[in-house]
Amino acid sequence: MSEYDLVVIGGGTGGYTAAIRAKQLGLSAAIIERDKIGGTCLHRGCIPTKAWLQSAETLTRVRGAGPFGVTTGKVSLDYATVRSRQQEVVETLHQSIRGVIKKHKIDIIEGDGQIQSPSQVSVNGTSITAKNLVIATGSHPKEIPGMETDGDRILNSDHLLALEELPKSIIIVGAGAVGCEFASFFIDVGCEVTLIEMLPTIVPLEDTDIGKQLAKSLAARGVNIMTAARVLSDRTKMYDSVVELTVEHESSEKSVKAQYVLLAVGRGAVTEGLGIENTAARIDKGWIAVDDAYRTDDPSVYAIGDAIGGLLLAHVAAAEGFVAAEAIAGKDPDKLDYNRVPRVTYSHPQVASVGMTEQQAKDAGHTPKSQRFSFKYNAMALIEGETDGFAKVVYDTESGDLLGAHIIGPRAGELIAEASLARFIQASAWELGTNIHAHPTLSETLGEAAQMSAGISIYW
Ligand code: FAD
Repeated sequence: MSEYDLVVIGGGTGGYTAAIRAKQLGLSAAIIERDKIGGTCLHRGCIPTKAWLQSAETLTRVRGAGPFGVTTGKVSLDYATVRSRQQEVVETLHQSIRGVIKKHKIDIIEGDGQIQSPSQVSVNGTSITAKNLVIATGSHPKEIPGMETDGDRILNSDHLLALEELPKSIIIVGAGAVGCEFASFFIDVGCEVTLIEMLPTIVPLEDTDIGKQLAKSLAARGVNIMTAARVLSDRTKMYDSVVELTVEHESSEKSVKAQYVLLAVGRGAVTEGLGIENTAARIDKGWIAVDDAYRTDDPSVYAIGDAIGGLLLAHVAAAEGFVAAEAIAGKDPDKLDYNRVPRVTYSHPQVASVGMTEQQAKDAGHTPKSQRFSFKYNAMALIEGETDGFAKVVYDTESGDLLGAHIIGPRAGELIAEASLARFIQASAWELGTNIHAHPTLSETLGEAAQMSAGISIYW
C-alpha cells in the first residue's frame, strides 16, 4: 500500500500543477490518471485546436501573399498533414510534461481513481492512502436532449478532433469560444459552415461590440450565422450522409443541413463513478463546491479546475492547482481574482479580454466609460495586412482605474497580457496609456485606447 501527503485525481493542467507545487513545498505527491497526462487541454482542447488554427492561418497567409510581392503556385490544404503536425506538437508537449513530473519524482499511477474515503483511493484494485486529496477530474462536453452525440454525424469536440476526413459542411451549435474557433478554422479551409447561437451575439461572454465584429468577419468569409436561434432538437433528421436540423430563427422555422453537426454547448464536471459521496464534499449545480483555497466541505479534500466550474480555462485550472497545493502545504495563499484572468478565443480575428465589460462594470456599481482605438490606424496592423478590429478599455470615471480591456484583431491573445498585468498591479487607464509602446507594434492600439480614456491623444 502506498501513502502520500497528496494524491491528485486527474493529471490535466490543474492536477499536474497542484502535484508539482506540492512537491516543491516538500510534500510527497502522486497523480492518478486514467487516460493521458496533460488532460483535455493537451490532448483534446487548447493545443490540438490551436495547431489546426495555425494551419488555417498559414493557408490564409499563403493565399493572400500576392499583395506582399510573393508569388505562389496552386495552394491547397493537406488535412492528413494538418492532423499529423497537430499530433506531433501534442506528443512533444506530452513527453515534455511527463519529463517534468518525473524530474520532480512524482509518481504517476495509471488507472481509474475511485475515492473510498477522504484518505483512501483505489486504483485498479490497489488502495492508496492520501493525507490530502485534490480532485482535478476536469469536464466533459454537454449534450442536448433529443440530439445526443453519436460520434458519427453528431459530434462533440473530442469526436471532431479525431475525425479522419475534412468535413465538406458542418453545423456548429453553440458560438462560445470553442464553437467560434472551429467555425473560423472550417470556413478558412473551405468547408460550408453554419453557426447557431441561442443568445443574441456570438462569443456571448464577451463585450457585445466584440461579438458583433467577430460575426461580421466570419459572415464576410461565408459563415452562415444564426443568433437568437433555437435548435428544435426533437426534429433532428438523419439521412445517409446528411443531418437536417430545424431551427427557430427570426420568428420562423428554418431547415439547415450539413454532413456533420458539432455540439459546442458547454461542459459539465466529471464526477460520475468518482466516489465523491464517500467524502463530505458537496456538489452544487453540477460543480464541486469549494472555498477560496479550493477546499471542499471535507477538510482534507480539495477540488480545482474545470470540475469546480467558473472559467473553464487551462490557466485558471493551473492557478487553482497552485493555490490548493500552497494551502495543503500550510501556506496562506492569496485568493485568486477571476477579474484579472485573461480569456482568449483563437478565431481569426482573435478575441481577448480581461476584467469587466462596461455593462458588468455598471452592474458592479462603477461609473464606467470606454474608449476604443481601431487597428485601421495602427502602422504594424497595416504592414501585416490585418487591420480588422479594435482595442477597447473600460475605466472608472471617478478613480480612473482600468476595469477591463477587450481586443479583437491580430494577435489579440498576446496583446491582452499587458492589460492583465495592468489589472494585476491595479494600474489606472492613464498608466496603461502612458506606458511607452514600441513603434511600430500592434500593442500601440491598446496604448492609444488607454490614452484616450485619459483625454490624451496625439492622433485624435
Ligand atoms: P482536464 O484537463 O480535463 O484533466 C482532467 C483529467 O482527469 C483527464 O486527463 C482525465 O482523464 C482525468 N480523470 C478524470 N476522472 C478520473 C478518474 N476518476 N481517475 C483518473 N483520472 C481521471 N482552455 C484554455 O485555457 N485555452 C484554450 O485555448 C482552450 N481551448 C479549448 C478547446 C477545446 C476544444 C476544449 C474542449 C477546451 C479548451 N480549453 C481551453 C479548456 C481547457 O482544456 C480546460 O479548461 C482544462 O483542460 C481544464 O484542466 P483540468 O486540469 O481541470 O481538467
